[in-house]
Amino acid sequence: MLEVVRIPVLSDNYVWLIHDPASGDTVAVDPAVAEPVLDAARQRGWTIGQIWNTHWHGDHVGGNAAIKAATGCTITGPAAEAAKIDTLDRTVTEGDSVRIGDHVAQVMAVPAHTAGHIAYHLADDGIIFVGDTLFAMGCGRLFEGTPAQMFANMQRFAALPDDTTVYCAHEYTQSNGRFALTVEPDNAVLRARMEAVEAARARGEATVPTTIGLERDTNIFMRARDVAELAQRRAAKDAA
Ligand code: ZN
Ligand code: FE
Repeated sequence: MLEVVRIPVLSDNYVWLIHDPASGDTVAVDPAVAEPVLDAARQRGWTIGQIWNTHWHGDHVGGNAAIKAATGCTITGPAAEAAKIDTLDRTVTEGDSVRIGDHVAQVMAVPAHTAGHIAYHLADDGIIFVGDTLFAMGCGRLFEGTPAQMFANMQRFAALPDDTTVYCAHEYTQSNGRFALTVEPDNAVLRARMEAVEAARARGEATVPTTIGLERDTNIFMRARDVAELAQRRAAKDAA
C-alpha cells in the first residue's frame, strides 16, 4: 500500500508526497516550494527520490531545483512543456508510465489549463494526481486550451472507477461548491456535500482528496452534457 501525505503550502496549494514502504521510494507531486516538502519527508524518515510535475506553472514546479539539490532526485514532467520547465530529467506523454517501486502510474495527457498538462494515474492503487485539471466540484481555468479539451478531460476522468481517489493541487472546494449550487440548486448530493465542506472549512480542515464517484455526482463541469454547457459554466465561474 502506498502512503500519500498532504502538504499545504502557499495560500491554497497542496503538494502530495507518495511513499512506497516496500521499496522506500518517495515521490513529491507538484512541489510549489522546497522546504516544507523536504521537512515533511525528513519527519517521516523518507528521502525524496522523484518529483512528478503535472504542468509548468510556478506553484507546481517552484521547489524542483532546491529539492533536487538537496536529494539528487529525478524530475519527470510533461514533454510538451519541457521548454518551460528547465529542471526536468525525464519527459513523458500520453501512454508513458512512471514508477514508484513496483507501482505504475500511467500518464494521461489532459490539456486545457495548460497546453501540455498531464495527470498521473495509478490504476492498480486506485489513485490519480490531476494537478490543476480536476478539482473538488471544479475544473481548472482554460489558460492554454479550449472547452472541448476540458470536456474531453472530464469525460475521461468520469470513466475511471468510482472509488478512485483524486488528489488535486488546490483547496478550491468551497468556492467551487458555492458556484455549483447556483447551477444545480436541487442536487441533493451536492447540497449535502456542501454542508460538510462549509463545516470542514470553518474548522480549518482540508477537503481534498476527493473521489471520482463523488465528483460524478457533484461536479458541474464533469456533469456538463456537452462542450457548450461546460464552456458556459466555465465562463460564468470565471466571472463570478
Ligand atoms: Zn496551474
Ligand atoms: Fe496551480
